[in-house]
Amino acid sequence: MDILLNNIDATISGKNCQICYEDVTIDNYVLWCISDTWKLSEFCCDCVTQMIETMGKKYLQDIKNADCEKSLFRLLEADFPIYITDTGNIFGNKVDSLYFNNKVHSPLLTYDFPSSELLIIQHELDLLRKKILSSEVDYLSLIKDFINKFNI
Ligand SMILES: [Zn+2]
Repeated sequence: MDILLNNIDATISGKNCQICYEDVTIDNYVLWCISDTWKLSEFCCDCVTQMIETMGKKYLQDIKNADCEKSLFRLLEADFPIYITDTGNIFGNKVDSLYFNNKVHSPLLTYDFPSSELLIIQHELDLLRKKILSSEVDYLSLIKDFINKFNI
């Protein structure tokens, strides 16, 4: 990370955030660590902060609101997101650590549940996925039970 920080002006020069298209500047750049390698994020710190705030909640809402078997199965193909990813969607690579505004930040997504409950939800979703993807079951009622159980 030190090498990146020492050359940060050159690293961010001419870059734009791939979500909001703002110029990446010394005030809004984000570094992130993925598989032990630090690199410049393609997103600015406003967009990364927004992602952390919304990505996990959106995943659960998308499961709740999936209006066809195909879209539900697509969601269940991904692991339950606990960390921000490098693509900002559920199929990206997990980010291990974040750095912006001169500080290291947690890559944990924001949920309306305590973190202890997140692991339970992750486990239940794993079980659901196995059941739904492996056999002919009434997946709508399974999903409904899951949503009701955690009050999503
Ligand atoms: Zn942005």
